[in-house]
Amino acid sequence: MAFSEQVLEEIQGKSDIVAVIGSYIPLRRAGRNYKANCPFHKEKTPSFMISPAKQIFHCFGCGAGGNVFGFVMKMENIDFPEAVRTLAEKAGVKLPSFTRSQFETSSYAVQIYKTNEMAAAFYRSMLLNTDAGKRAAEYLKGRGIGEEASGKAKLGFAPDEWSGLINYAKGKGLDLAVLERSGLVLPREGGGHYDRFRNKIIFPIFDIKDRVVAFGARVLDNSQPKYINSPETEVYIKSRHLYGFNFSVQAVKDKDLCIVVEGYLDFLVPYQMGVGNIAASLGTSLTDSQARLIKRYTKNVVMLYDGDSAGEAASLRGLDIFLQEGMSVKVAVLPKGLDPDSFIRSKGAAAFDALIGSASDLLEYKLGILSSRHDSRTSSGKAKICSEMLPTIAKIPDAVLKFEFIKRLSEKLQIREEALLSEIKKIKPDRGYELPEELVSGSVSQAAMAEKIIVGLMLDDPDTINEVKGKLKPSDFEDPYTRKIAEEIFASFGDGKSFNPSQLINRLAEPDLARMIAESSSLVEDIKDKQKNLEDCVKWMVNKNAKARLSELQNLIKAAQVMGDDGKVNQLVAEYSGLIKHHKELARR
Ligand SMILES: [Zn+2]
Repeated sequence: MAFSEQVLEEIQGKSDIVAVIGSYIPLRRAGRNYKANCPFHKEKTPSFMISPAKQIFHCFGCGAGGNVFGFVMKMENIDFPEAVRTLAEKAGVKLPSFTRSQFETSSYAVQIYKTNEMAAAFYRSMLLNTDAGKRAAEYLKGRGIGEEASGKAKLGFAPDEWSGLINYAKGKGLDLAVLERSGLVLPREGGGHYDRFRNKIIFPIFDIKDRVVAFGARVLDNSQPKYINSPETEVYIKSRHLYGFNFSVQAVKDKDLCIVVEGYLDFLVPYQMGVGNIAASLGTSLTDSQARLIKRYTKNVVMLYDGDSAGEAASLRGLDIFLQEGMSVKVAVLPKGLDPDSFIRSKGAAAFDALIGSASDLLEYKLGILSSRHDSRTSSGKAKICSEMLPTIAKIPDAVLKFEFIKRLSEKLQIREEALLSEIKKIKPDRGYELPEELVSGSVSQAAMAEKIIVGLMLDDPDTINEVKGKLKPSDFEDPYTRKIAEEIFASFGDGKSFNPSQLINRLAEPDLARMIAESSSLVEDIKDKQKNLEDCVKWMVNKNAKARLSELQNLIKAAQVMGDDGKVNQLVAEYSGLIKHHKELARR
């Protein structure tokens, strides 16, 4: 790392975050923190928060966050060394000289990006230059992907070999450990590695800065599973990326509209036929991070998912997510049996434009679906429609828009506005940070929330670190970001050593981790009973992990029984009953 932590500390000590941000935008005091209208996205009510105690900022609207260096980077659109230099100059701190390459090689994330880039080049050359690759190229041609689009998207082919990529990487002097960390190779039992992707068409997945963050891979025939993907890594959290958005972001901005489709081909075919403002959610369920990513560039979205029932369900979920983010969303409905790529190929670009232009808004689309399921002429049918419609309308943050939808619903169903208004008041809005009480089932988003709260509370009060450390290991954290942060906190800051989140941000030196630290810290600001929340979240995670291990043990025991390995069975059963006993004790506490 080119800048020592001491230097960053010194600059930071002389660049109070409130003063620095206050020199760019007007701030308002809110208790011990400050609020502002976010400079990074358009908003009317402030969701941008600054904590002088933690020396961080976070926007609950668009997810931006970090410390004073991160703010200046984003505000001035400059890189980290540049931001350090800017603030050092203002603060009168003299910087030691350094070279850029030193900085770039410091972070392991950078090594993963490089490895991914190298792998993409390998797969590309396999597609273009081998006989097996030509079959893959033929397949793509058959699906309507031209050479230009194929080249731009760096489509490739993974040969049917166990160590094709490995041998290539070795020849390039690359570290297999980084290759493993990037998810491209898997460790072999008893030592060594093997290629994850074999005999597959490769779709590199890019982030918004054109860096390859992961890979999707498709079989050449109709065998299952059709697609496999890279695992999540330090640089890839699936829920935060949109396929193709790096290519389309400028057009999305220009047209002030983003068309959201589902898969690689749904993106590639329309894109090469001139539909510039399009991106794919990859997987049917859109996430709120993806919605927020789009919202940085436009508030207007048209969803275009397959016309089947899975597509319909995905569209309905997506509607809720975009509405919740305060965006304006419509749904275009494809004729049955067609997906976006087959539609545009058979009917042409003009028909595609017309389809997008004819998209229905929330009320038309969802009401249409509900009316086909329930009889809107009977009062029980109306009640059913309302009970599904109102929770969606309740998610709209803008009061004027919300009322507009209520009015229209009232007209369509012939129900008085007052009745609908009093019903909608009973619906509690989703408030992320009140979740601990609701951590009941075991969905991923709840795990992510619990992890953020635990990290946030440890950062809030270093005295709690040892308590958490006694009950959870870094590997208990599912999200690679919270895991990395917990690892660093456990390693560096136990024993009540005081520090602030901003220091941790400097130490980890990775924008995505900075954002996560700021988000976790800000999430816990309004929690009243912090001790109880921490205990609840830790207990919930311990339980969840114990349950997962128990079901894993059951399978291992069965397997050992089948193999007739009595020693192994006994050992596993001992672990199983030990865990149950431990689990009961924890539950009693
Ligand atoms: Zn924002």
